[in-house]
Amino acid sequence: MEFAPTPRQEELRAAVRALCARFPDEYWRRLDRERAYATEFVAALTRARYLSALIPRDYDGLGLGVTEASIVLEEVNRSGGNSAACHAQMYVMGALVRHGGEEQKRRWLPAIAAGDLRLQAFSVTEPEAGSDTTAIRTTARRDGDAYIVNGHKNWTSRIEQSDLLLLLARTTPREEVADRTRGLSLFLVDLREVRAAQPDALQVARTRTMLNYETYQVTYHDLRIPATSLIGEEGAGFRQIIDGWNAERILLAAEAIGDGYWFVERAARYARERVVFGRPIGQNQGVQFPLARAYAQIAAADLLRYKAAWLFDGGQRCGAEANMAKLLASEASWAAANACLDTHGGYGFVDEYDVERKFRETRLYQVAPVNNNLVLAYVGNHVLGLPKSY
Ligand SMILES: Cc1cc2nc3c(=O)[nH]c(=O)nc-3n(C[C@H](O)[C@H](O)[C@H](O)COP(=O)(O)OP(=O)(O)OC[C@H]3O[C@@H](n4cnc5c(N)ncnc54)[C@H](O)[C@@H]3O)c2cc1C
Repeated sequence: MEFAPTPRQEELRAAVRALCARFPDEYWRRLDRERAYATEFVAALTRARYLSALIPRDYDGLGLGVTEASIVLEEVNRSGGNSAACHAQMYVMGALVRHGGEEQKRRWLPAIAAGDLRLQAFSVTEPEAGSDTTAIRTTARRDGDAYIVNGHKNWTSRIEQSDLLLLLARTTPREEVADRTRGLSLFLVDLREVRAAQPDALQVARTRTMLNYETYQVTYHDLRIPATSLIGEEGAGFRQIIDGWNAERILLAAEAIGDGYWFVERAARYARERVVFGRPIGQNQGVQFPLARAYAQIAAADLLRYKAAWLFDGGQRCGAEANMAKLLASEASWAAANACLDTHGGYGFVDEYDVERKFRETRLYQVAPVNNNLVLAYVGNHVLGLPKSY
């Protein structure tokens, strides 16, 4: 059993940490206030090639594992930033790397790795279907050498900040397939072409949420995409998406863990410095213990995250570990967020302290991209062998 990070992983962490330090609290606070996108930060992370961690070396990426990719995203959140600006590129990379054709990979991956193209958006969730992805209604109908896409998606984040879009649509009606997971297909859409040649085929409206998040309602109106946009086999899109879920959950766990450490470190520093009743508030066990408890929860989730990543990178089954790491990490970061807010008293609600911003940001990890009920359902069904509720 080996628990220590490798020297290369330590190096990577230190380098990402140094890059993140160039984007201090004020930067993220200003973006939050203005509801603006972290353009400069994402550009810097891309230029340094960290976002190409999961792109194989043959396609000019760093060719690293999910373990290393998760270290990058953890450090972003641990620095006080928010990985949401850029995590999609890593979340969806598996779909293209594992299921894309050689020509597609040669065409797109080196350009993404170099930062010439941004793949920051995936368009899956729909209003009526919600968590039941196989019930989506967006269709892609084959028409000669093209597909015609029609439908509506309610949460397509960063579509305005992306050049490429991963789109899930139905190519065979649900009634016509014996297995509802079949008949869905995955496409890589070149948004630059769409914007230039078919601006009316894509309607985009931003949704304002409780945190600074670039997320949009998207309507596809007779959008014509070349048949070469199809990734892998027609009808197998759901499997391809599921295939990426373990990596997504591990990466998400690492982001939440980064938040968790940020909350505990901030709170401990404040609790050492803030003096009330003639002593540091951190001397009171009512302040100290919730922080110690949250720290222990984060450390435990962190171990499971590394185990899941280790299994993933070794090509082993890791569904249970990846799901449990996501569950525990999102709960641990939330416990840390509350302890940190309490430690700061009234100042926790003041934006200059950044606690209220991170508090809003970290809450999302329990809900999206997958909610914790469905994670528990996975453990109940697949690990404990209990009957499925849906
Ligand atoms: C800020 C933000 C950004 C997002 N970005 C993207 C994106 O870029 N691309 C994309 O495709 N999607 C995106 N999403 C969508 C996200 O993945 C969904 O919100 C999430 O999958 C849940 O779907 P829903 O909101 O429709 O909830 P619903 O499916 O309506 O569920 C509502 C509640 O019911 C519970 N529930 C439902 N079914 C069950 C069940 N069988 N057992 C127990 N509980 C159940 C859930 O736990 C949940 O709490 C984003 C969401 C948010 C909030």
